[in-house]
Amino acid sequence: MTRYDVIVVGGGPAGLAFARSLAGTGLKLALVERQPRTVLAEPGCDGREIALTHRSEASLKALGAWQAIDPAEISPLREARVLNAGSPFALAFDTGGTGEDRLGQLVPNHLIRRALFAVTHAQPGVDLLAGAAVSSARASREGAVVELADGRRLEARLLVAADSRFSAVREQLGIAAEVNRTGRAMMVCRVAHERDHEGIATEWFDYGQTIAMLPLRGRMSSAVLTLDAAGIEALAALDAEALGAEITRRFQSRLGRMTVVPQPGMAGPGVYPLATTYARHFAAERAALIGDAAVGMHPVTAHGFNLGLAGALRLGGLVADAARYGRDIGSPWLLRRYEAAHRFASRPIYAGTNAIVGLYTAEHPAAKAARHVALRAAQRLPRLRHGVSRMLMQP
Ligand SMILES: Cc1cc2nc3c(=O)[nH]c(=O)nc-3n(C[C@H](O)[C@H](O)[C@H](O)COP(=O)(O)OP(=O)(O)OC[C@H]3O[C@@H](n4cnc5c(N)ncnc54)[C@H](O)[C@@H]3O)c2cc1C
Repeated sequence: MTRYDVIVVGGGPAGLAFARSLAGTGLKLALVERQPRTVLAEPGCDGREIALTHRSEASLKALGAWQAIDPAEISPLREARVLNAGSPFALAFDTGGTGEDRLGQLVPNHLIRRALFAVTHAQPGVDLLAGAAVSSARASREGAVVELADGRRLEARLLVAADSRFSAVREQLGIAAEVNRTGRAMMVCRVAHERDHEGIATEWFDYGQTIAMLPLRGRMSSAVLTLDAAGIEALAALDAEALGAEITRRFQSRLGRMTVVPQPGMAGPGVYPLATTYARHFAAERAALIGDAAVGMHPVTAHGFNLGLAGALRLGGLVADAARYGRDIGSPWLLRRYEAAHRFASRPIYAGTNAIVGLYTAEHPAAKAARHVALRAAQRLPRLRHGVSRMLMQP
């Protein structure tokens, strides 16, 4: 039995950011992660380009992680355009009037993970238990107990679950969650193209497919295609040349001919089955959920990690304050405050994103007409558009 102040399950970006936010508090943390240390230190590419808001960038700077990301790997996102089916009309979101030159930045997910690991693994007070899977977790008024698959037993005053949207710890704590398996999947890969994207991201809700092009440095983009799961499986099985031709065709050559750019460590495109999740509670006795374990967003509005980071730092701030003033770091009052604030920040974005996905993937004639009307109406409401831009920049 080893005693800690906090046990964090999951060394993904949310778990790492939370652990990092407790630097200097004197708290003793166990960070339990299933993957081996070598993989955490050098995670392979997974194809995801994360659109980070200004606030997330500032948070990563405060954690010291932003400085560990090669600037050549960061791409500015200047504008976002939404297109509907065959209509030439595009609803544009820009930085209008904010004085910023970009909506946000695109950074490969594995580099965010690598940077957060680099600043956290040797942090005084952090005991990294890598290559260790949690087999059971429970928490009660008396404290939290976690058992590892190798038989080790850990105890703490607070348990934090950051073990992904299908969190086993969430289940073991008896916290229910809305789980929406969409039956669709997302394919991501880098493509080089003939024309310049001018830093503009395009989200095109076409009939039967959703396709996004996220602008990377040079004449390169991250292509993100959503189809039913079988369609994605068939595309992912194509060789690079055929896949490039298929993406060019599906994007109607808007950026000219596209060729797939191989990424180190990836045999083909990244494939992600789409499921959204929202936990009924973000806290229980001496336990809290953060990151995707709390809110598993649909990636279409690019908010999952942004929200996860904000929530992890919200909880981290409350715990750090409690430690500083000698208060209980897992008190019901503290956990309720975290839960209320994170729910307030996340619920509208979660519900709004799901509504957009529902409206723009429905194929019946009323939905097709409604989405056209919705985009036109939004264009005529500059305050709404600027509000959305601000939300994209700083959730
Ligand atoms: C295609 C795609 C594009 C995206 N684009 C964006 C974007 O543009 N902007 C944005 O903000 N977000 C985006 N997201 C969302 C973002 O990637 C996630 O929100 C984020 O990675 C979640 O981080 P996490 O740490 O909560 O969970 P994860 O990254 O899932 O990490 C969980 C960790 O827990 C570990 N673990 C699980 N179970 C156990 C166990 N029993 N014991 C020990 N360890 C365990 C896992 O090994 C893993 O390392 C995107 C997601 C996808 C799929």
